[in-house]
Amino acid sequence: MTSTIRVDWPACRARGLCHELLPEVIDLDEWGYPVVTGTVTAELLSDARAAVRACPQLALRLVG
Ligand code: SF4
Repeated sequence: MTSTIRVDWPACRARGLCHELLPEVIDLDEWGYPVVTGTVTAELLSDARAAVRACPQLALRLVG
């Protein structure tokens, strides 16, 4: 089963930490806002959980 990352846009402050922690799934747009480019596979699950926990705005959620 794969999961995905959802972003709470009003909460996000475009700090880009999520991209540093999970570059396989999260890219950044030109303003530094995250762009989810892929799904969270089983191999990426622990990195995805770490990115969700690390977001200073609590703007990320792992779904699925
Ligand atoms: S770590 Fe959180 S606040 Fe920073 S860009 Fe990612 S979602 Fe937005």
